Amino acid sequence: MKNEPKGFTYSTTVDYDIADMYASSKCKKCLGRGLNKTYTSLNGTIKKNEKLIENLTYCDCVHKNVKKYG
Ligand SMILES: [Zn+2]
Repeated sequence: MKNEPKGFTYSTTVDYDIADMYASSKCKKCLGRGLNKTYTSLNGTIKKNEKLIENLTYCDCVHKNVKKYG
């Protein structure tokens, strides 16, 4: 078991609980889920048939609410 400090961290991994907690249900961008999916390729350019890496990031509304409510 890892002992991690509580709080919001801007990391590459997302916490579904935090996304759910801070997401705006009225947000049109993430539809209230608090998470957005983006795709990147290994070399930064997206080509056809190239393997893409899926990234989950917090939506802007989550960042906004985290600042607001801490
Ligand atoms: Zn959102």
